[in-house]
Amino acid sequence: MSTAPPVTGGARNASLCVLMSQTTSQLERPRILTGDTPTGALHLGHWVGSLENRVRLQDEYECYFLLANMHAFTTRADTPGDIRRDTIEIVCDWLAAGIDPERSCVVLQTEVPAIAELSWFFAMLLPFNRVMRNPTLKTEIDSKGLGDKYSFGFPMYAVGQCADILAFRPVCVPVGEDQVAHIEMCREVARRFNQMYCGVDPKTEDADYPGAGGLFPIPQALVGRVARLVGVDGVQKMSKSLGNAVLLSDDPKTVKKKINRIFTGRQSPTEPGDTSNALFQWVEAFVPDAGRVAELKDKYARGADIGDGHIKAEVADCVNALLEPMRERRKAFEGEAGERKVIEIIRDGTARANAVAEETLWNAKRSMGLDFFARDLRAR
Ligand code: ATP
Ligand code: MG
Repeated sequence: MSTAPPVTGGARNASLCVLMSQTTSQLERPRILTGDTPTGALHLGHWVGSLENRVRLQDEYECYFLLANMHAFTTRADTPGDIRRDTIEIVCDWLAAGIDPERSCVVLQTEVPAIAELSWFFAMLLPFNRVMRNPTLKTEIDSKGLGDKYSFGFPMYAVGQCADILAFRPVCVPVGEDQVAHIEMCREVARRFNQMYCGVDPKTEDADYPGAGGLFPIPQALVGRVARLVGVDGVQKMSKSLGNAVLLSDDPKTVKKKINRIFTGRQSPTEPGDTSNALFQWVEAFVPDAGRVAELKDKYARGADIGDGHIKAEVADCVNALLEPMRERRKAFEGEAGERKVIEIIRDGTARANAVAEETLWNAKRSMGLDFFARDLRAR
């Protein structure tokens, strides 16, 4: 069995994905699956970590974007109304960001029953301790203060995520760095299933699994141009749940105010600054002109009379320029009429997704000797 390739920058992974797609037996465009948990509105970390790639890849790939609303219940089972609101909100964020529902499918996890069934089968392919050692789960338990009080379902979401992905047999999964450990587990499940139930030789190279009779391609993580954007607290990963995020839906004033909070600890404009600090991650992420980035770095490093406040204002202007077209597109989905449009988009995308996921489930069951008879499920 080949080991996982290291996950590096977007460009390298993108070319790997293209290579892999050429070796799959899929006749259509190769597929992408990724998604977000409705735990709050989307933010700039989502944009640079994953969303930007999704928007860019819509023509080349058949794209499935999953609303992981079942997973939201793993930490917020007591607030179903919030999960419902955030689910609609995330679709508005996607559409505002440039996801095109004509080209891509918006998929509601709780209406794709094949995912829940596959989760069970995959749970049997992963040792319990392997799941609990998953570093992303551990970090989440710490950062969200879950202690030892989390539900049984919480670690189960990591197994469920393998099913979210593999139900669509994608070659690529655009994600932020924190998700790479999950993708690695998903790759292990795919290999194991292919070996155990499809008779694929364990020595097979990852890219050759579909050609060797495997049901599942071994999907590749595609990490965005900023693997882990730090929040406005200047310390933790920007996260919906940590209150340190600039939202894609924030108005220009709020953006300025939040960016002004980024803490560097520098005392004066003439103090030589450290260009590897949080503020400069933002400069690199959002100031589009490479020449200007270099100039800011140079002045900052020399303490050449350039204040943090000035740099923050410049970054905020760039962020607002990025968000302005999103604000315009979002208007079409505001209010009750907008919500009805959003639900129609989810319904349509989920119906198309069920066709693929049901086919996967049927083929999985056939490989496992569970094809006693066929059934027909349609999303209403
Ligand atoms: P939560 O706090 O509920 O975990 P989150 O803000 O971490 O929310 P997720 O829904 O877990 O968001 O992540 C959705 C996608 O966005 C994932 O691919 C994740 O890696 C990516 N992502 C989230 N935050 C960042 C970030 N700060 N930098 C880069 N990518 C990110
Ligand atoms: Mg997260």
